[in-house]
Amino acid sequence: MTRPADPITNPPVTSDSIAQALSVAIHEHRIAPGTKLGEDELSEIYGVSRTVVRASLQTLSHIRLVDIRRNKGASVASPSTTEAHEVFEARELLEPRTARSAARRSTPADILKLERHIHDEHAALDANDSGRALYLSGLFHTEIARIAGQATIAGFIETLVARSSLIIALYWRRESALCEKHAHHALVQALADQNEQQAEELMRSHLVDLHSALDLRERNERTLSLKDALSS
Ligand SMILES: [Zn+2]
Repeated sequence: MTRPADPITNPPVTSDSIAQALSVAIHEHRIAPGTKLGEDELSEIYGVSRTVVRASLQTLSHIRLVDIRRNKGASVASPSTTEAHEVFEARELLEPRTARSAARRSTPADILKLERHIHDEHAALDANDSGRALYLSGLFHTEIARIAGQATIAGFIETLVARSSLIIALYWRRESALCEKHAHHALVQALADQNEQQAEELMRSHLVDLHSALDLRERNERTLSLKDALSS
């Protein structure tokens, strides 16, 4: 299989296309958390200048997929298992109540927008773009917080969802990229019915389900070299 990372079959290589290729490789677990992302090595792999590589690493650091440390360079971000638990516990605390408020306030336009999110997420899954599917699935949650009209809590949830994407990317242990088709559909239905109780319960069980799908045991994985992970 040829990946977008291949500079010969998919020119031109830009900082965006490198960021995309690295993001996909991280989401597909080909590059392990903590792996050092050397500028020299990446510029050799992609046949571009270090400036282009640096721009792509900056992009990834903004969405916290990559950590950049002074004098140490860039590496794949590595949220601890403790942080992973904390993030999901915080979400289990905030989001069921938010879903309840959203059920009270949702308009037909909101429902349409949520349905479009689900549709796009499925399209990404069908196209094997698990990175994008993960991103869209997170947006679904921030959208519900927006519908609930609680800006302060929505801000917290947005941060937690962004952090969750990386945690899910790193610790997800189920076969499919995301098994939440049913959960999101059922949530939209509860919101459309303005069934507050149902929305709250569905959101709680959905988050507990996601949390339980993470493999948060300590591990010691064999890691591919960057070159092996990014080619072929
Ligand atoms: Zn979800």
